[in-house]
Amino acid sequence: MTYSIEYHISALFVTLFIVFDFFLRKDMRKTINKGFMFLVLSHLTSTLFVIGTTISNNNIGAYSLGFRDFVNHGFLISHNSSAYVFALYTMFLMGYNKKRTPGYFAAFTVPLAVTLFLLLLNPWQRWVFYYDQGGIYSHGKAIYVLYLNALFYLLYSAAITIRLRKTLSKSKFFALLIFLGVSTVPVVIQMLFPHINIEIFLQSLGILGVLWTIENKAEVFNTITQIYNRFAFVQDATLSLNNKVPFEIITIKLSDVSYFISTLGLDHMQSVTVEMAAWFNGLAHQVDAYDCEKGHFCLVNFSNSAVSSEELISIIKKRFSQEWICADTHVTFPVEISMLGVPQQVDSIEQIMLLVDMPYRSRQFTAEVISTDILSLHQREIKVTQAIEEALKEQAFSVYYQPIWDRQAKRFTQAEALIRLFHDDMGPIPPDEFIPIAERNGSIIGIGDFVFTQVCSLLQKNDLKKQGISSVAINLSVVQCMNQRLVENFEKAIDYYKVDPANIKLEITESVTADNPAVLLSTMEKLQALGFTFALDDYGTGYSNVSHILNMPFQIIKLDKSIIWGAVQSTSAEIMLKSTIAMMREMGLKTVAEGVETQEQKELLTFLECDYLQGYFLAQPMNQEDFLDYCGKYSNIRLS
Ligand code: C2E
Ligand code: CA
Repeated sequence: MTYSIEYHISALFVTLFIVFDFFLRKDMRKTINKGFMFLVLSHLTSTLFVIGTTISNNNIGAYSLGFRDFVNHGFLISHNSSAYVFALYTMFLMGYNKKRTPGYFAAFTVPLAVTLFLLLLNPWQRWVFYYDQGGIYSHGKAIYVLYLNALFYLLYSAAITIRLRKTLSKSKFFALLIFLGVSTVPVVIQMLFPHINIEIFLQSLGILGVLWTIENKAEVFNTITQIYNRFAFVQDATLSLNNKVPFEIITIKLSDVSYFISTLGLDHMQSVTVEMAAWFNGLAHQVDAYDCEKGHFCLVNFSNSAVSSEELISIIKKRFSQEWICADTHVTFPVEISMLGVPQQVDSIEQIMLLVDMPYRSRQFTAEVISTDILSLHQREIKVTQAIEEALKEQAFSVYYQPIWDRQAKRFTQAEALIRLFHDDMGPIPPDEFIPIAERNGSIIGIGDFVFTQVCSLLQKNDLKKQGISSVAINLSVVQCMNQRLVENFEKAIDYYKVDPANIKLEITESVTADNPAVLLSTMEKLQALGFTFALDDYGTGYSNVSHILNMPFQIIKLDKSIIWGAVQSTSAEIMLKSTIAMMREMGLKTVAEGVETQEQKELLTFLECDYLQGYFLAQPMNQEDFLDYCGKYSNIRLS
């Protein structure tokens, strides 16, 4: 019988194409890619051997028996091993390997072991193949064991592919089935009609199909950072979840990405993120790194890995406490690191993604273990975000006013505007909760404009001076202070409402002065030129830096409620309060005491000569109508 070689030569070309295409791609770190690499290499080996067997078996006179024996054995060993490698590849692809015991793998290897054993004995026993009297290559009875070996592994692969099809996309599922089909059918054909040898060629085409679908890297790689992307993360996490394989996710979130982009430039920021991604990728051999976008990276660590998640976290913390070189400058990037146990803490891909996408929360360098409380917190954050969006669209925010007591005049002479959000289902949402969220997602700009125009309109429509109120204070958030267009927007509003800026005080929290004093100062100077005045809010909450106060045009210092409450409880705190008020007076600044809730506090502050008092004991924040009534009622009346 003469064997045709054309199919084998074509198979060789296809396989070489696969080898080049696959090896030209970067990053084959993942076990699964290595699995594919083994599959391709074992297939390439069997293709080379089959060419050798075809040529030598067709020209028996031209080749020694030793050579023919070598290529025939080589082909049968490599070809039968390919089926085994393919079954292993399918197993890894489906994540089916993760929970299998060594015993399972041992049993799984038995058919291949029997096949190899028969082939090893063959030079002496000639059970698999032999050469007849005329030197013609002929099959022995044991050849059927080899066919059964191939069929076993192919059917095994088909069974787990069908059973776990939910873990694969439709295109990948069909790619695998087609590969299995084009591999199994020719085995049967070959078994029945040995001269039709299209098996190797069809398998090459099948592997090519797998390369273009399952191993399609463009789909799973982030084009900039060159590590696995968000899509790959969702896919891999879903796979492990479906297979009930426990794992840990470490998330690393860069803070203020947009701030760094604006200061370092997009190109430089990109190149430093590429460097970080490569660093994450090289952290540990078995740990996969994913770029989940917006400066959020994830590492996936399985329990069988050599390095624990705690160890990884401490390595990451150490690296991020050091600088990265970016555009010739040394920059330290604040990151928030967290760890999540799947499925102990979360057991659905939706919940995982919620936590992965959750914005950077703290302003500190942290490595906390995320708890489900944080998850519910985040769910609440999503609801609050929606409530903010709706309220901005429907103008559903309202502004309350809290009158401020003037110690010397003994009446209310000022007020603070305080935003309020009431939601139909959630009830009142406190500003301390929604303002930080609005600051993170940028909607604070809209809220700030809303409050500002409400106050302008109040001042335009009512002559508050007649009612004894000389100014209304508005809180400015960090984000507003850093907004380039703040001055322009305020200027437009005061022109439109024809309001004198001298009647508006802008309250800026202490922490903002510490964040970026240069930008803040330039904004304040422009606003001051328009006629606005400033109060430093929450003085005494930890950032106290007198030099900032001296360098910036504040006229009023608002003492935080914690200082006031402390002063009635301890003598040392009282001394501190006394000296603070005195120091401010020396510097020509007025003081406002916040959070005055009791008669005792009021008396102490009066005794210490604090200029203004604000708190529930004197007046609650109230809506505009009540505020106007209240001011009307108490206008110019001196109360004791
Ligand atoms: P803040 O600037 O320190 O405002 C004073 C807060 O203390 C207000 O809380 C006020 O209702 C509350 N308060 C007044 N008197 C007392 C008292 O006697 N005891 C106690 N315990 N609290 C008192 P509110 O309205 O919940 O606002 C909380 C924070 O939200 C404000 O703190 C401010 O930082 C921010 N905020 C409120 N409205 C706005 C706004 O329109 N824009 C911006 N950017 N932030 C705002
Ligand atoms: Ca305030």
